[in-house]
Amino acid sequence: MEHMKVDIMVAGGVAAGMSAASQAKRVNPQLHVVVFERGPYISYGACGMPYYLSGDIPDPMRLIALTPEEAHQKRGISVYTQHEVLDVDPDAHTALVRDLLSNREILVEWEKFILATGARAWTPPVKGMDLPGVFVLRTLSHALEFQQFLNSQRPRRAVILGGGPVGCEMAEALKKRGLDVVVVEFLEEIMNTIDADMGALVHEELRRNGVGVRTHRRVERVERTRDGLHVIIGEEVVNCDMILVATGVKPNTELLTKKGVAEGPAGSVDVDEYMCTSFEHVFACGDCADALDLVTGKKVYVPLGTTANKQGRVAGAVAAGVEVSFPGIVQTAAVKVFDLEVARTGLSERQAREAGFDVDTVQVRSRSRAGYYPGGTPVHVKLIYEKNTGKLLGGQVISREGAAKRVDVIAAVLYFGGTVKDLYNLDLSYAPPFAPVYDPLILAARRAYRWK
Ligand SMILES: Cc1cc2nc3c(=O)[nH]c(=O)nc-3n(C[C@H](O)[C@H](O)[C@H](O)COP(=O)(O)OP(=O)(O)OC[C@H]3O[C@@H](n4cnc5c(N)ncnc54)[C@H](O)[C@@H]3O)c2cc1C
Repeated sequence: MEHMKVDIMVAGGVAAGMSAASQAKRVNPQLHVVVFERGPYISYGACGMPYYLSGDIPDPMRLIALTPEEAHQKRGISVYTQHEVLDVDPDAHTALVRDLLSNREILVEWEKFILATGARAWTPPVKGMDLPGVFVLRTLSHALEFQQFLNSQRPRRAVILGGGPVGCEMAEALKKRGLDVVVVEFLEEIMNTIDADMGALVHEELRRNGVGVRTHRRVERVERTRDGLHVIIGEEVVNCDMILVATGVKPNTELLTKKGVAEGPAGSVDVDEYMCTSFEHVFACGDCADALDLVTGKKVYVPLGTTANKQGRVAGAVAAGVEVSFPGIVQTAAVKVFDLEVARTGLSERQAREAGFDVDTVQVRSRSRAGYYPGGTPVHVKLIYEKNTGKLLGGQVISREGAAKRVDVIAAVLYFGGTVKDLYNLDLSYAPPFAPVYDPLILAARRAYRWK
């Protein structure tokens, strides 16, 4: 067996892993930093995959920010692709790695270990999920395989299981490719990241664009006959040529959980603000780790690319010897569904109630531009806040323009622990092409603050 001695070993080479390795080398270029990645690609924007599949981004290699060769030449990082980390010994400071092409094993002695193994697609435990024509979309390899299927088999009908952000992005992508698309959602409304009353607007947008939507329906099984695939949802059978399962993810944490590391929500690895795990000299970051929710002060598992990049930087810097920290998140996210921008931050109304807040909400429908200025579109804003104190708890904005950036303003107020009054008092920019004189956010905050 081959032996290797390194200063920092990183398992996983996408957003969190490559951010960690790069930052460690920036902090201390003398360190020997090695990344082991199970797949053939590193450092790619998984968030761009729906746009590659829709045809908006024709070249999938444009999604790759850095190749292993560039990582070595430009940043001094040694990257081993198609190498799987099989075991980690946090006491002995060693790890066992397998070269998946040659089956050769390597015993790595490390000073610091960073887990950046991300998450895998979770599929419902029903029959037929392993049939040909059933896909998941998590890695670039998945996207390439999926594209190959679309190009060679020319499917006409698709069913998407899961109406969350990835399911909705893919409904748009497949529609653009000319397929008939049906989205099946287990919950009462599409887009589980926002409240059902706002999700109804997304539902309507899907329907307006010819996407079939089935909500509150559980897939019972999938069958395959000579006529194609059949998705059985209660009384109904939806026939199709392909299925995309977009029902969520599960963190890849077994390397550390089987050793007894402290766990966070949903099976993630629990980390502090320095990305330290409960094992000394062992860090975790990205979609395998939890984060502090700054609104509730509790740990949450919200796997997003923004957090993965930031947590990775912090893990790498701290492992390399500088004290920086990642304070936490307010769960800000945006998604484009056909012509709609759907954005959310903080707690949804449901989450706020579950967290025990005495919740009030306000909704306004305003315009993205001054009423007299051409081209404006409706902007729907929902604010969630604490009844007596006015403390802002969350916000959701849906519009054909300007929703994502408006939600970022709410996110900033949440980060600083502000109230609806603080939001109202913000000195936001105004000119007729960008907003009405009372921006929809200010209007919503004013209603919440009860200034009529
Ligand atoms: C279709 C899609 C759209 C998305 N859109 C958005 C968006 O718009 N905005 C947003 O913020 N986020 C989005 N995300 C989420 C974002 O892509 C992830 O949060 C981000 O990729 C997480 O990065 P990561 O490095 O933590 O994990 P991953 O990207 O999962 O990478 C982990 C890597 O670790 C490797 N690995 C696992 N186990 C081992 C092992 N034992 N040994 C070696 N290597 C291992 C895996 O092969 C994988 O390559 C999207 C995700 C998808 C799939």
